[in-house]
Amino acid sequence: MINYRLFFLDRGESMPNSIDMFRSIERKISFIRWVIIFMAPLMIPLSDYRENLVIYVVTVMVVGGLYNSLVTFACYNNSNKLVNIVKYTSFFDLLLITLVVYLRGGLRSDTFMLYLLVILGSGAKHGIKGTVSALIQTIIYYSVVCYIADLPNVLDWERLIIRIMYFIFTSIMMYELSKQVNESTIKAYRAQLEARLDPLTRLPNRLMLTEYFESLRKKYKDTQVSFAIVMIDIDNFKQINDTFGHPVGDKVLETMAKILKKHLNSKDFVCRFGGEEFLLLLDECDKNNVLERIDPLKKEIDTHPFDGIEVTVSIGISIYNDRLTMIENITCADQALYAIKNMGKNRVLLYDDIKESDYGQNQEFFD
Ligand code: GH3
Ligand code: MG
Ligand code: MG
Repeated sequence: MINYRLFFLDRGESMPNSIDMFRSIERKISFIRWVIIFMAPLMIPLSDYRENLVIYVVTVMVVGGLYNSLVTFACYNNSNKLVNIVKYTSFFDLLLITLVVYLRGGLRSDTFMLYLLVILGSGAKHGIKGTVSALIQTIIYYSVVCYIADLPNVLDWERLIIRIMYFIFTSIMMYELSKQVNESTIKAYRAQLEARLDPLTRLPNRLMLTEYFESLRKKYKDTQVSFAIVMIDIDNFKQINDTFGHPVGDKVLETMAKILKKHLNSKDFVCRFGGEEFLLLLDECDKNNVLERIDPLKKEIDTHPFDGIEVTVSIGISIYNDRLTMIENITCADQALYAIKNMGKNRVLLYDDIKESDYGQNQEFFD
């Protein structure tokens, strides 16, 4: 499950920015992995003392464990468990290093098993493409190393150089692999995010609403901090479309989305609820302060030029009621909105302030 809180960014910035942020985190992680794997050659001299095998294995386990924790820490600390996939790849790194140590410079056939693991892992995560790519890299790498290792009469210092090369190759290969994993992780998350975005306004769509509502509901349960459900509907939008054309109507929707985002605090949420309806969840809002929060937003909409088109909105608000379900809470805001439409539009109304007469002819609708 993705933690969307990360994407609700300060002042409701657009999603692609957060993906860029994600990408830069991934780059950092790759860099850490690269540096630490590259440090593996430092361990080589130790491995030449067979009597110190236990010390060596322990050292590698500690270094490997440290490395693994660092990668995990970097992921968790920066991106809220977004990239726990890196845990799996670092598991392979650790396994690879440990086994290589255990086999003690095994440049020959038995080492090949390690690459089978990487190929299988890559295949399991990324299908045929991952398998083929890992396979090609492995074959190239393995052929080169085998050729060097099988040179006759190698002296000890030469073996050392060969091993250093071995680790450099390993490092490059692991770096390439982890980069691949990271790229495809980003792609997968981007696809998931796109499915939750409205293509026209780039606002979240209803899919995200439930998840975000749940997080605010939980916060209310823990801290009793209330939040407001705000339903905004553009008045006479059909008429705008009919008069100026659909593309102009689209432009109005886009501009409206921008204005709404501008007025969000970091923990608020906005989504395109339907055609010309937007739904806001305003954190830390109750009956006493919600109108103060809405006032500047309504003022900006009222005074915005919208390319010469007069655009007004009706805004229905309810304050979260923990005895009601999410749908019922939203319905309360919707009822307030409906009441305003009956009262002549272009206003703000709190659900608690609805009077019987506000329902006009449609009272039975709410019974
Ligand atoms: P009211 O003041 O009662 O809300 O009237 P209204 O005309 O705004 O509401 P109505 O529900 O009658 O019409 C909504 C219109 O919004 C109809 C639909 O064609 C239009 N619409 C919905 N989605 C889009 C969109 O993505 N782009 C454009 N341009 N128009 C849209
Ligand atoms: Mg509507
Ligand atoms: Mg409307």
